[in-house]
Amino acid sequence: MRVHLPLAFLAASMPALLTSTGDAADEIVVLSAGGAHRTVVLVIDGPGGAEVALEEAAKGLDVSFSRAGRDAKVTLRSGGREVTLENGKSLFSVAGQLRALAAPVRVVGERTYVSAPSAAIVLGAALGQTATYRTAYRALVIGAYDAPRLRLVNLVSVASVESTIELSKPVPYEIRKEPNRVVVIFQADVMETDFVAEALPGRIVVSARFERASPPRLTFDLGDRFGSVKTSERDSQHVGLLFDTPPIAGAWPVPGGPEGPTGRPAPGKSVALGTGFQKPIVLVIDPGHGGDDGGARGPGGKLEKDVTLALARRLRAAAVDSLSVQAYLTRDNDMEVPLDERAAIANNFNADIFISLHANGSRAASAKGTEVFFLSYTAADDEARRIAMQEGEITERTRGNDKDVGLILWDMAQAAQLEASSRLAGNIHGEIAEAALSRSRGVKQAPFRVLVGATMPAALVEVGFITNPEEEKLLFSEAHQVRLTNALVQGLGRFIAALRANP
Ligand SMILES: [Zn+2]
Repeated sequence: MRVHLPLAFLAASMPALLTSTGDAADEIVVLSAGGAHRTVVLVIDGPGGAEVALEEAAKGLDVSFSRAGRDAKVTLRSGGREVTLENGKSLFSVAGQLRALAAPVRVVGERTYVSAPSAAIVLGAALGQTATYRTAYRALVIGAYDAPRLRLVNLVSVASVESTIELSKPVPYEIRKEPNRVVVIFQADVMETDFVAEALPGRIVVSARFERASPPRLTFDLGDRFGSVKTSERDSQHVGLLFDTPPIAGAWPVPGGPEGPTGRPAPGKSVALGTGFQKPIVLVIDPGHGGDDGGARGPGGKLEKDVTLALARRLRAAAVDSLSVQAYLTRDNDMEVPLDERAAIANNFNADIFISLHANGSRAASAKGTEVFFLSYTAADDEARRIAMQEGEITERTRGNDKDVGLILWDMAQAAQLEASSRLAGNIHGEIAEAALSRSRGVKQAPFRVLVGATMPAALVEVGFITNPEEEKLLFSEAHQVRLTNALVQGLGRFIAALRANP
């Protein structure tokens, strides 16, 4: 809806419109000096599109208006600065210089109408401050206005959805429980966020979405498995919402599995729930080597087993935090774990993804870069054979010469996953190649023993060459580890998004 009536009439007869949040498309907000000044301005339709009245937008700002030339010329004054506009002209003067506007100025009665972006230019010139019009927020921002930033993390598990709202600075808020939804309303003029909306599995909370309304709000749409919501505040910048299922026996169909005393599944049991439910994605991260097996050694004496463990721990934390997955390590300290056992751990966890982390080694100190592997049963070339030997190659037994059927089945486990594994490797490579600040050696295949028994998509990542003096230093720096972790999370995120869309 656009307002075609004179503003004075509207203000007198329909004051509710001025504060209405239901039809915010016809308003813009003026923000200045850290939000100290805020005016809602009605927007009207002019010949060239939506326009705002400068007199309205300047309310509360240190700007005076005067008219001359039978009211055709309008002058804005502030702190010795003068800006003059003229009816019908697509320009204005400031300090004797002419500047262009996108559309002609319209003087109608007591009001001087320009487009919202032009209002920012004109008021900014009058006030001697930078001013911009932010289309996404419908806000005319004068001077430095530091909008609060919002981040939302949703952790979905079988029995609950844990949502954490992170704010860059404290913002007063109100939580409203409405039928079928929970709404968090923030007392802020605008909020910055990358979060738009997220569909959540499990039917406790169906979706979370952010609306840039006035005031801005987060809405959690509740599903048929929703029972109750508890809110908590760790501090004024972290608001937690815990959405639970009803604590009633029978609410949980647990096919074939024993139930706990509350009717919930016994802990540790993987359960398949009714239609529409997706079990949480499980990620198993394998820090390569460990214990007596130090892996490759750098010229500075650093060991591969230490960087793989450091990266794996970071990745576990980051994946749980931002991918809403369950994540486990095959080793969480400096211990030796046999190669076959690493894939077995992933199988025992019923993992959806298995990723083995390594740092490469080469006799050539200049060798550098990242590469991501998935399994092949034979080495395609000498380089693949060299790396497979370094990281543990498939032996003759695991190539299937053994007569033991059980072993052969185990050895073929990864064969069924090769297509998915190649996608996983591709997704990870797509992100890590750039983050590694080095050349990408691509996605490759090699006969890795550690991958062969994994019954889920699996990839081995060489995050860089520890034998390269520069990369050795990089790999042990916190900044680089964070960069690599973020890239791994991004790559895994892409794979997981596809998995969730098409389980
Ligand atoms: Zn290795």
